[in-house]
Amino acid sequence: VRQDLEAQRDAATATTDGRTITLSSNIEFLDELALVRNSGAKGVGLYRTEFLLLDGEDMPDEHEQAEAYKKLATELAPHPVIIRTLDAGGDKLPVEPLTEPEPNPFLGWRGIRVSLDRPGMFKEQLRAILRASAHGKLAVMFPLVSGLGEVRRAKDYLKECMDELAKDGVPFDEKLETGVMIEVPSAAVIADLIAPEVDFFSIGTNDLIQYTVAVDRVNHHVADLYRPTHPAVVRLIKRTVDAAANAGIWTGVCGEMAGDIRLTPLLLGLGVEELSVGPHQVPRVRRAIRALSHSECSVMAEQALMTGISQEIMDATMGMAKQYY
Ligand code: PEP
Ligand code: MG
Repeated sequence: VRQDLEAQRDAATATTDGRTITLSSNIEFLDELALVRNSGAKGVGLYRTEFLLLDGEDMPDEHEQAEAYKKLATELAPHPVIIRTLDAGGDKLPVEPLTEPEPNPFLGWRGIRVSLDRPGMFKEQLRAILRASAHGKLAVMFPLVSGLGEVRRAKDYLKECMDELAKDGVPFDEKLETGVMIEVPSAAVIADLIAPEVDFFSIGTNDLIQYTVAVDRVNHHVADLYRPTHPAVVRLIKRTVDAAANAGIWTGVCGEMAGDIRLTPLLLGLGVEELSVGPHQVPRVRRAIRALSHSECSVMAEQALMTGISQEIMDATMGMAKQYY
């Protein structure tokens, strides 16, 4: 089977009825680059930059970061690389020692909140991304956005950084695309208000599920309630995709749901246009996409939007996945 999958490496990721899905890869470390290239993924849909913060060290400085991003840009060109700004805090790597522990880290100082509170650090990262953007196709994406104000503030910092670099004569991509992770329910609910201000959405289902159903994504006592096919999650994904389509931008999924081939029929049916998955999952997800009819997936997804029980939605998507699962 593995050989079969490898032989398909350069096959188009299109459904049987001709809808093309962008299949890209998530990475955390630069030494995964070879894996990404070998997988045949069309670029990186999520680079988790918090992994630059190793062992309690500070974030590398602007020039060191720019080197890392440039390596990604050049080695994967002409494919795009989406760099997510620091998503430290919460249960993730701490950005700096907190003076007191947070009672609810997942609801605390995390993601874009930290970046907006530490503009010096945030702007170093944005300038590093911009410097590297002259060497390939990069995009920037903001994590844990909960409202439009955060998007505007983050974009204002990006604009400031562009002006600073332009003044210094440093080349960068003036059209650098800007995206938002949709992973907090409030952002999904107002996706129509956010969409006109960005170039793409990437749904972070790991967090979107935990915040929607109030189930800690790492607490095994409640793991049974953590349901990717919960009707509310399905509706929020649909709402996000529709808001994006109305504004003429695309929606991808970069959470674990994207790599679960039982759910590929559901995600395609809901209108998702990009899937970003671990490099090892790329071949199987490619095969799933190529086996499915988009129009049949859409009919199933329409039905799922009217279904109240997670397990029934899971059964419906698995029913279609059976042919390759
Ligand atoms: C997500 O929340 O789905 C996601 C992709 O981001 P992370 O897992 O890094 O929080
Ligand atoms: Mg997340």
